[in-house]
Amino acid sequence: MTCVLHRNVSVTPPSIVSAKGVWVTDRDGKTYLDAVSGGAAVSCIGHQDPRVTDAIREQLDKVSYVHSSFFTTNPAEELAEQLIRQAPKGLSRVLFCSGGSEAVEAALKLVRQTWVERGEPQRTRIISRRQSYHGATLGALSVGGNLARSEIYKPMLFEGHWIEPCYSYRLQQDGESLEEYGLRAANLLEEALLELGPETVGAFIMEPVVGATLGCAPAAPGYLRRIREICDQYGVLLVFDEIMCGMGRTGTLYACEEDGVVPDLLTTAKGLGGGFQPIGAVLVGDRILQDLYAGSGALKHGFTYMAHPVACAGALAVQKVIHEDRLLEKVQARGAQFIQSLREEFAEHPHVGDIRGKGLFVGIELVADRSAKTPFDPGLNLNATVKRLTLEEGLMTYPGGGTIDGRRGDHVVFSPAYTVTEPEITEIVSRFSKGLNRALETINQ
Ligand code: PLP
Repeated sequence: MTCVLHRNVSVTPPSIVSAKGVWVTDRDGKTYLDAVSGGAAVSCIGHQDPRVTDAIREQLDKVSYVHSSFFTTNPAEELAEQLIRQAPKGLSRVLFCSGGSEAVEAALKLVRQTWVERGEPQRTRIISRRQSYHGATLGALSVGGNLARSEIYKPMLFEGHWIEPCYSYRLQQDGESLEEYGLRAANLLEEALLELGPETVGAFIMEPVVGATLGCAPAAPGYLRRIREICDQYGVLLVFDEIMCGMGRTGTLYACEEDGVVPDLLTTAKGLGGGFQPIGAVLVGDRILQDLYAGSGALKHGFTYMAHPVACAGALAVQKVIHEDRLLEKVQARGAQFIQSLREEFAEHPHVGDIRGKGLFVGIELVADRSAKTPFDPGLNLNATVKRLTLEEGLMTYPGGGTIDGRRGDHVVFSPAYTVTEPEITEIVSRFSKGLNRALETINQ
């Protein structure tokens, strides 16, 4: 009997009683190798680092809460300073909140206020990409292009506008280089702007590396740069959603760093607090900061738990661990090993169509036919079976599925902690291989 309203009404999930590093243990003593940082790329430095839990305890002993409209606190100031110091040049302030959806919601409202203050209130439209996920609140769902997720809420949402994502495995054409594909995919934004009327569009929002909905699909080379150019040309604000792919997950603290492209707003969450505290943030660019405050001098948006001192203290300690233990270097080394091991293990596998990703943000796309890239019948719900059977093998993975123009792809996301060791990666690949093959047997019977 449970009084918790779980996502699946008829199944109570195993109850976890302890966790350390990349291992979690349930009430019955079963251990699971955590290849997804708690389930969704959250616990990025592993479970239970005493440097973080001590920092949280110390903050609780000093001040646990004050409302951000009255006061600021040391951990909030220090964390913001640290994030900005390491951020791409041009991002200069941080708005803190309690998670990813709140961060996206806040970013959308900052876009709105910017355009109102600039005297262009008709720029109400937000363009995003098909199959994208930007959060569960009604504003974030409105911009999200994963229509299966938003379908029942449609009457409560504002109108969304979507272009095709940058998804080379399925959308790059024969004879086209990756760079040419990236350019073509980015130019779809210009087409959409011209169709809608650029003067009606406030912002474009996208994930630099698409996590949950496409299975770690990185942008093609040159894509982000061209997107930035188009936004600048038509005066549209650019929002990068780095809630899942940011905070070191791809091997640099911010995923957009590698391309040298700076957005006007950048949302982050998950790895920011490393799961020790619920926290999200919006980094705000100085190009819009002055306009944002031009009229009333005050933000119109606010949440009770903005810049929560204990959440900020926890996140600050997580950031210090990433820095002190040089974890970004480990992300790059372990990420390369992970992709290499998967490629070796599944080199000849008829149902592994693609292995991709950046750093420790790694995805596998499952296909019915490898050479034709034919997706599995969605009715088979393969990704759910993979999740269940890999869990039975003692491995946490993050399988998902999505539809683009009626073509569905089943994929699996891996996002282990940055502290994962070489032998643990070998073990992840081995357990996954067993779970996957068991799942495939169930549909081949
Ligand atoms: N944006 C992206 C890219 C995400 O992956 C998620 C969560 O999975 C969100 C936003 C929403 O974050 P949260 O679940 O913390 O509200």
